[in-house]
Amino acid sequence: MTGIDSLRNVLELECQKGYTDRAVIGGLDKYLHNQAGQIRQSINDRQLLKSFDELNLANSNYGSYSVDERKRWMASVFGWLERLQKPSKSSQLSAIGSQKAAPEPRQKRKEGLDSPITVIKGISTSVEKKFAKLNVRTVRDLLYFFPRRYVDYSQKKPISELIEGEEQTTVGTIWQARVAALGNRQGTEAIIGDQTGNIRAVWFNQPYLAKSFRTNARIVISGPVGLFKGHKVFESPEWELLGDKDLIHTGRLVPVYPLTQGLYPRQVRKWTKETVDGYVWQLSDFLPSEIEASCQLLDLPTAIAQIHYPDDQAMAARARGRLSFDELFLLQLGVLAKKRDWQESQPGNAFRIDREVINGFLQCLPFTLTRAQERVLQEILNDVKRPKAMSRLLQGEVGSGKTVIATLALLVAAANGCQGALMAPTEVLAEQHYANICDYLSQVGSQKSSSEPGEGTIRRYTRFLSRPLTIALLIGSLRAADKENLHNRIRQGKVDIVMGTHALIQKGVEFKKLGLAVIDEQHRFGVLQRSALRQKGFNPHVLVMTATPIPRTMALTLYGDLDLSVIDELPPGRQVVKTKCLEPQDREKAYTFLHRQVSNGRQAFIICPLIEESDILEAKAATTEYERLSRDVFPDLRLGLLHGQMPGPEKEQVMRHFRSGELDILVSTSVVEVGIDVPRASVMIVEGAERFGLSQLHQFRGRVGRDKEQGYCLLIPEKLSPEARERLRLMERVHNGFALAEKDLELRGPGEFFGTHQSGLPDLKLAKLTDLHSLELARREAMTLFQKDPDLKKAEHQPLRQQLSQAWSKEAEWS
Ligand code: ADP
Ligand code: MG
Repeated sequence: MTGIDSLRNVLELECQKGYTDRAVIGGLDKYLHNQAGQIRQSINDRQLLKSFDELNLANSNYGSYSVDERKRWMASVFGWLERLQKPSKSSQLSAIGSQKAAPEPRQKRKEGLDSPITVIKGISTSVEKKFAKLNVRTVRDLLYFFPRRYVDYSQKKPISELIEGEEQTTVGTIWQARVAALGNRQGTEAIIGDQTGNIRAVWFNQPYLAKSFRTNARIVISGPVGLFKGHKVFESPEWELLGDKDLIHTGRLVPVYPLTQGLYPRQVRKWTKETVDGYVWQLSDFLPSEIEASCQLLDLPTAIAQIHYPDDQAMAARARGRLSFDELFLLQLGVLAKKRDWQESQPGNAFRIDREVINGFLQCLPFTLTRAQERVLQEILNDVKRPKAMSRLLQGEVGSGKTVIATLALLVAAANGCQGALMAPTEVLAEQHYANICDYLSQVGSQKSSSEPGEGTIRRYTRFLSRPLTIALLIGSLRAADKENLHNRIRQGKVDIVMGTHALIQKGVEFKKLGLAVIDEQHRFGVLQRSALRQKGFNPHVLVMTATPIPRTMALTLYGDLDLSVIDELPPGRQVVKTKCLEPQDREKAYTFLHRQVSNGRQAFIICPLIEESDILEAKAATTEYERLSRDVFPDLRLGLLHGQMPGPEKEQVMRHFRSGELDILVSTSVVEVGIDVPRASVMIVEGAERFGLSQLHQFRGRVGRDKEQGYCLLIPEKLSPEARERLRLMERVHNGFALAEKDLELRGPGEFFGTHQSGLPDLKLAKLTDLHSLELARREAMTLFQKDPDLKKAEHQPLRQQLSQAWSKEAEWS
């Protein structure tokens, strides 16, 4: 739009407003004074130029005129405007209607996809560091840095049709822009007009924008339309000047990326756009073309381009479909290959089952096994007596008695002259297992005290076997000398059973003859960790234990390398945790209840709301809540704080303090979920309960009421929609983890079900957003391919083979 068009618009608006000099901020005179020169330059007819000069717009005096004078003045200016042979209104409108900008000429960039992201213009080494926090280091990473969602700014409207209260997009011309006081801070204010009217737009706290908003520039703005003093206004909308570039911030489905501190959405969009345009052509499509065709998948470069800047929602969905298929398919292929590798490449240890050892242990336990425990024990024994390595997933609710079963299996290994290892996700849990197993064993055998120095974590028991049985705890925080000592003993086969964290599978730990590895709390370890453990010796049997109930389809897909056993029965007499869903205004009552429990010598958890989008925000919120509770609510009690941003040793320390009773209340984010066992904890408050999945809530409440005393779980939602209330009410009635898991899956889908913590699997960035149907599709295709070409030896499968090893090598970064 030229300066003359703007002038016409401003004057028309001024007429509409009844000649009140309110069409432009600061008044018409100021506007004309500023604009006259530019308008003059656009006139190339000498006659018109002369008559324009006669109007003397640069020195107009409109503000001082009466209304009648203003009308007359206006008529003369319009008269002059009439004489300009301007294009008709309708053609102007169509020019505005088709504001799809010409696409930028794509420049193929030649640097390889593994180049550092600094090859992208504008990415400095300091920006590079920020991206590194998001695990984005190379151009390929940036191509695979997917938006979380899109804001739909694709529906464009003329200004007169904008509706208050909705997010909309409009295209117009900047009539005027200036720094303005908004509230008590400086911001930018602009008037934007099209043929149908004009609208004010304000940007709070961003006075510097005024400089970018040249008068008469064409601009696209997208955002919510509000009402201010009866006039519509865009408040801090997204904006973008129309030029020869593709729109990326407005006027389309705009990608919203996960960000970290110091990265701003506009910059990131600029960079992803440049990366997609410049590099996507280099991606080679690794999927066999039959699969692409039969599953109707987009090709890879298109999928990547569309997931960042989709043409429409349908294309975004197809892009996501293709890329999540890739993830699941590679996952399946990898899992199948791993299973075959360890089952077929080398024979396993066939254990002899010595009933005497087993019965001797069982007879001394203060309880008898439940039927479910019996059944699972038998499944395990059947596995380990074959010359093929066991790989079994043992699921069972918290408290269902998995540890006893694991202890038995470890004993069987020791009886066969093999070593056994039990690996837990945290030191505290490893210590817990160590204490429990020692406890079982000392009820049965007698402990021989050790005389050597530095042996705090080694114990010997007699009576089980023909020789003393040696148990040890190996964790990262041991003194170096103790660790060294333990390493030596493990290497020499002088330790029968060792418990630890993943310190167990690190370099330096060599077993003389590892026969059985037990991994507790499965979801923290991945298939690769399992195979790392297997490689510690002699293709050991592997038993994985989890308290997270995983529905069968899902388990088959995600843990396809494992056979399944389930303990679906709790020991008799177990109390269920009384669960109640409160209203937010009942919080005080919950605090009073909690305080009373603590006064009676109990301990409590307070779980802070889940903030899915950001661990940092979640940690901050938890810290604030912790401070508030310590200061205002429980000044007389001892509180501890646990969140995901704390360094590992600090977390361990807090959990240890809580376990040993040095703290009364543990304020925590969802990191507390995994298996911590604090017998004296009897009450848990979950804030923002509606944000968690049912399974997760069930896991939480499994942390309380672990001894004879009644446990209580109080759910406090933030906002309670009828559906959320319905869901939380299930927690009051249903106490079976599997039933809750199925319900969760049904209500929220698998993505939510698994939550954001997907560790242990190759990058599943998108697949968690998809459905069971995709899981099954990927599994089917992977099995078909695996049958046809198990080693991916065929020439046409080479790109796939390469991709597979890449996807699975990433996971090796876990340690
Ligand atoms: P899990 O690891 O499955 O959460 P544990 O093995 O830690 O469960 O068992 C929880 C508690 O139940 C322990 O105190 C254990 O001694 C006890 N327990 C295990 N099996 C039985 C049983 N069959 N009867 C009674 N108590 C049992
Ligand atoms: Mg356990």
